Amino acid sequence: MAEIFKQKNAWLKYDEAGKKNVMDFCEGYRKFISDNKTERECAQTIIEKAKKKGYKDLTKVKSVKAGDKLYFNKFDKAVALFIIGKKPLADGMKILGAHIDSPRIDLKQNPLYEDSEMALFDTHYYGGIKKYQWVTLPMAIHGVICKKDGSVVKVNIGDKPGDPVVGITDILIHLGSKQLEKSGAKVVEGEDLNVTVGSIPHDDEEKNAVKRNVLDILEKTYGLEERDFISCELEVVPAGEARDFGLDSSMIMGYGQDDRVCAYTSAEAFFESKATDRTQVCLLVDKEEIGSVGATGMHSRFFEDCVAEILDKMGAYKEIDVRRAMANSVMLSSDVSAAYDPNYSDVFEKKNTAFFGYGSVLNKYTGARGKSGSNDASPEYIAKLRAAFDKNDVTFQTAELGKVDAGGGGTIAYIMGNYGMNVIDSGVAVLNMHAPWEITSKIDIYEAYRSYKVFLKEL
Ligand code: MN
Ligand code: MN
Repeated sequence: MAEIFKQKNAWLKYDEAGKKNVMDFCEGYRKFISDNKTERECAQTIIEKAKKKGYKDLTKVKSVKAGDKLYFNKFDKAVALFIIGKKPLADGMKILGAHIDSPRIDLKQNPLYEDSEMALFDTHYYGGIKKYQWVTLPMAIHGVICKKDGSVVKVNIGDKPGDPVVGITDILIHLGSKQLEKSGAKVVEGEDLNVTVGSIPHDDEEKNAVKRNVLDILEKTYGLEERDFISCELEVVPAGEARDFGLDSSMIMGYGQDDRVCAYTSAEAFFESKATDRTQVCLLVDKEEIGSVGATGMHSRFFEDCVAEILDKMGAYKEIDVRRAMANSVMLSSDVSAAYDPNYSDVFEKKNTAFFGYGSVLNKYTGARGKSGSNDASPEYIAKLRAAFDKNDVTFQTAELGKVDAGGGGTIAYIMGNYGMNVIDSGVAVLNMHAPWEITSKIDIYEAYRSYKVFLKEL
């Protein structure tokens, strides 16, 4: 007799001690996303952890052999971790990938101005956002000031105890009738995202006295001169910690979970992995939210160059082996999926949607319209993955990003697919994706972490 398949909510497979493990693991994650709100902060924290675990800088080691643990740092914004396996690299690698950039509000290069005795920063948003979600919130400024003498000063204003916050204002409801007639995309427009930063005038200045006072504060705190803004990367992000969400604390609300929820779980699984036959890789990249472009995005050659370097330092460099290493690899390209939202059920098709509580998500394809722009994973590869997950009791689900023709999205999977490797999109379901405060389910975070461990062990 045929049986009808029925998936079980993953919380139900854990007893009290098991649930505590889930909660404890997610507390580490909650702290990580609270402390690391930019790609640079994520890259730095992960490299520090790698160093403590004995990973060596690939660019500094003279030779490489099986069992070595290596890291590569691309411009402080993208990271590759390697555990060298016993088999030749040309046999392919097991790769976990995710991105560590998130939507945010970047300062323009010439940002600071004064209007009616208020000081403001002009900004240019990064990634796809509903702009109206980013106003009237406490915001922090994270980033770096790069000076002409080569020094780099780290900035964090708004997330240290006792710090002031900044933010973007909105029109009061009493005067908002014209604004509210506009379409959602225009209620708050790109040039309206100005961050208010001060209102006290400097006492011996007549014009721009408030701006001058803000510059004084920045000079005292960070040694910043106005011209230094042109070599800054300052990102305005939601201020404050991620929080447990729900009366049962079953979820996490926090900034930047797309895609740090996959980056953190991938890195944690990787750090626990032992050397195996094939070389293992954890790839955490930047710029996914704007098309994976530039030197630190997945389209960059930096990863391929790392593979060439490793072969060279093993005394076995051949161009053909670089290509074979890439083509023979398997990868979980992890990024967030849209979680089913009971408030907006009409954009989902329930049989092919990710639900909170049903574990890590496999997306055979992403893309828009007729799967345009998607890496369509091969079913042979999916069969191997589901066998490994089932064998190890990993709860997983499959999903599409909403209904056909409702919209769409992309990830880094297709870029790695270009090398001819087997790659599939996997990850964690998110509510409020790309909003300042995104929501994930703790059991899904934990099952994703378990799925990455199983992938590294079994594939
Ligand atoms: Mn993403
Ligand atoms: Mn995204």
